Amino acid sequence: MSKRVLTTLLLAALSIAVTPACSKKEIAKATFMPMGGIPFTVQAYDVSTATFDKAMTEIQEETERLEGVFSFHRDDSELATLNREGKAKVSPELLRVIQVGQLVSNATDGAFDVSVGPMIDLWRRCAELGRLPNEEEFESHKELVGFRFVSVNVNESRVTLQRKNMIVDLGGVAKGFIADRAADILQGHGIKRGIVDAGGNLALFNSVGEEPFKVGVRHPERPNERIAVLSIDSGAVVTSGCYERFYEIGGAHYCHILDPRTGQPAGELLSATIVASEGAYADALSTAVMVLGKEKGLQVINSLPDAKALIIWREGNELKWAVSNGLEDKVQFLVPGN
Ligand code: ADP
Ligand code: MG
Repeated sequence: MSKRVLTTLLLAALSIAVTPACSKKEIAKATFMPMGGIPFTVQAYDVSTATFDKAMTEIQEETERLEGVFSFHRDDSELATLNREGKAKVSPELLRVIQVGQLVSNATDGAFDVSVGPMIDLWRRCAELGRLPNEEEFESHKELVGFRFVSVNVNESRVTLQRKNMIVDLGGVAKGFIADRAADILQGHGIKRGIVDAGGNLALFNSVGEEPFKVGVRHPERPNERIAVLSIDSGAVVTSGCYERFYEIGGAHYCHILDPRTGQPAGELLSATIVASEGAYADALSTAVMVLGKEKGLQVINSLPDAKALIIWREGNELKWAVSNGLEDKVQFLVPGN
C-alpha cells in the first residue's frame, strides 16, 4: 500500500475524515467531548491498542485538569480565581497561555486581547435581551479592556489585572494549548506520528519522515465541504470563523469574535486558518486575523517568523481567498474561483 494512499485526510473545524485506506490496523482513533461538548479527536499511527488506550486515558485526565485551569464558566477554575481576585500566583499552564496571548496582542496591536471578557459579557447579556449594545455601553466597557493592564511577572508566576472589574477570557487561545498538550502525551508514549483535533485546533506530529498530512480546510459557507487542502508535516493548524458561533439578535448574526478595542464583532473575513508550530500561538493568531481583516491580517502574518495564514472572504457573489508568504506551495484549492 503506498504512503500516499495512507495519507490522512483531515477536516479542520469539527470533524476528521479519514480516507478509507486508512483503516489499516495500526491506526488508532478515538473521540471524546470535553469542555462543554467540544469534539476532541485523537489519532495515532503504528501503535498498539494497549498503548493508545493508556495515552487516551492520560489525555482525558489532563484535558479535564486543564479545564479546571482555563475554564471561564467554572467558578472553581484557576482563571475564575484570577478574575475574582484581580491578581494571582498562577500555574505554569495559565502563565504560558496568558503570555502567548500577550505576545499576540503586541503583534496585532490589540486585535487579540485576553481581557476582552467585559465586551463578551456585554454581547451575551444583550443577546439574551434581544437587543444590540449601545454606544454608551461600548464606551463604558472599553475602559475595562486592554492587554496593557494585564501584567505578567514570569519570574514570580504572577498575573495582575490592573483595573477593577477586568475579566480575562481564554476562549481564543486555550484550545490550541490543550491540543499541543495532548500531542505531547502521545509522543510521551513513544508514538511517532499522530493528529489531535481539539474542536478545529489541530496538533500534528510526524517524526517518522512519512508524507505530510493532508489537512482539509472547511468551506466557510458549506459545513460539509472542504475548500482547500493543506499539506503540513507537523505543528498546529487552527481555523477561526464566524459560521459556527455567533450572537443572534433580531434575526441577524453577529460574530462571537470581537474587536477588543471597539467591541464591534469581526465581519470582513469568513474564516482564517493559521499554520504555526505552537498551538496556543496559532489559536490566538487565528482569532486576531479575523479581527484584523484581509489586508492588515496578511500584513501582520507576513511580518511574523513562525506563522502562515489562509484567509477567506466574500465579495458580492464571489468567494475570495488569499494566503500569506510561504503557504502558496502547501495549499491546494478544491473549488474554482478567486
Ligand atoms: P472558537 O473558540 O470558536 O474556535 P476562537 O479561537 O476564534 O474561536 O475564539 C473565540 C473566543 O475567544 C470567543 O468565544 C471569546 O471567548 C474569545 N474572544 C473573542 N474575541 C476575542 C479577541 N479579539 N481576543 C481574544 N479573545 C477573543
Ligand atoms: Mg482562536
